Amino acid sequence: MTQQNVKTPHESGPIFGMAVQQFNAAADKLGLDDGMRAVLSSCKREFTVHFPVKMDDGSVQVFTGHRVQHNMTRGPAKGGIRYHQDVNLDEVKALASWMTWKCAVTNLPYGGGKAGVTCNPKNMSSGEVERLTRRFATEISPLIGTASDIPAPDVNTTGQIMAWIMDTLSMHQGFTDPGMVTGKPISIGGSLGRTEATGRGVMITAVEAAKHLNVPIEGARVVVQGFGNVGYWAAYLLQQLGCKIIAASDSRGVIHSDQGLNPEALLSHKSDNGSLAGFPGSDSITNSELLEIPCEILIPAALERQITEDNASKINTKIIVEGANGPTTPEADAILYDKGVVIVPDILANAGGVVVSYFEWVQDLQRLFWDEADVNQRLETIMTRSFNQVLATSQEYKTDMRTAALIVAVDRVAEATKLRGIYP
Ligand code: NAD
Repeated sequence: MTQQNVKTPHESGPIFGMAVQQFNAAADKLGLDDGMRAVLSSCKREFTVHFPVKMDDGSVQVFTGHRVQHNMTRGPAKGGIRYHQDVNLDEVKALASWMTWKCAVTNLPYGGGKAGVTCNPKNMSSGEVERLTRRFATEISPLIGTASDIPAPDVNTTGQIMAWIMDTLSMHQGFTDPGMVTGKPISIGGSLGRTEATGRGVMITAVEAAKHLNVPIEGARVVVQGFGNVGYWAAYLLQQLGCKIIAASDSRGVIHSDQGLNPEALLSHKSDNGSLAGFPGSDSITNSELLEIPCEILIPAALERQITEDNASKINTKIIVEGANGPTTPEADAILYDKGVVIVPDILANAGGVVVSYFEWVQDLQRLFWDEADVNQRLETIMTRSFNQVLATSQEYKTDMRTAALIVAVDRVAEATKLRGIYP
């Protein structure tokens, strides 16, 4: 495949730029030609919608949302929907491309997609969020389907929101089609083990990384940035293995305790008070202090670009397990690699969610549901195998785990692209 007037649309903002920079590091190691690079670093479809929602006070507000399908060579697009005030097309493109690589590194038969709506659901009523969700699902419905594109939860989107999406799209079809969206509640075709799957995958890969570095898990100090779905479950499951959670944060509070924090008590404090702030027995610290606390395992589980060239040299951990997507910039990666910190990259560390979403989709298609132990066992098999393939690749190519994970993933998508050829 040679480059003939192929222009890669990289002209977007910093987050997709960062994703392309990471991709290029793997493409260099694999020796991909310019044509293949252009194909694999472009987003196949970028769909932007502006749509009205009736608010509770009778006014009408117009919201903007996006669904991006990055690459669908290996199967339907798969990826979550984010509701956040900072959502923009650049971010959604980056998140969609990371989904392609995440599905490929775990060898799922999917491509990558992502959606986002620029809104702050914390300032909206449940009725407003429902109307926004049903209208957004309708606006992106030309793309969505069991065989074409399957959304899931992400930041600020829940099982209830997935239920509204499933209902809206099923109403249009005239029959119930649960395979169009994953992360649904169990009673309407969700999978056991899905809610905690991303955090469970973070726990499994943290344990594998600790084994590799001979760091004992029992007593390991863990710091969690972002105590949401991913952060809570990772903290809870690691504590069950004997780790000590010594600091945690959410968007409104950052807390620390050398004695250790109980994740279940933190969750109940957060649900009573809306934040971790003021948790009894903890001190309040800043976000920069949180990232610099000496620990064995640091889990960024909030948003992108938290670990940068400004703070990377002050980070004092042995292992970073990226619960969030894109929390570490390429400049920070280089600093941390030189310091000997092992980073389990996002596309591997937080893949547990999409792996169990895949199980949910398979169960929905077959109308045959598995028990929780079966789900967890299959998840552990895929996460452990993927971790070890990436570790072996990092040793073979003498490179960091992020580039190694991308080498495994990009190689699989490149091979599928070559075999299928360029249509027509
Ligand atoms: P969530 O909405 O459940 O939780 C996000 C948490 O981060 C909240 O507690 C929020 O208060 C906190 N937060 C936001 N901004 C913060 C900041 N600046 N500092 C500290 N905390 C902050 O979302 P989630 O589903 O847990 O997703 C978290 C990350 O994990 C995102 O990057 C997401 O893309 C990624 N992820 C999620 C899944 C999944 O299955 N939910 C799967 C893979 C990756």
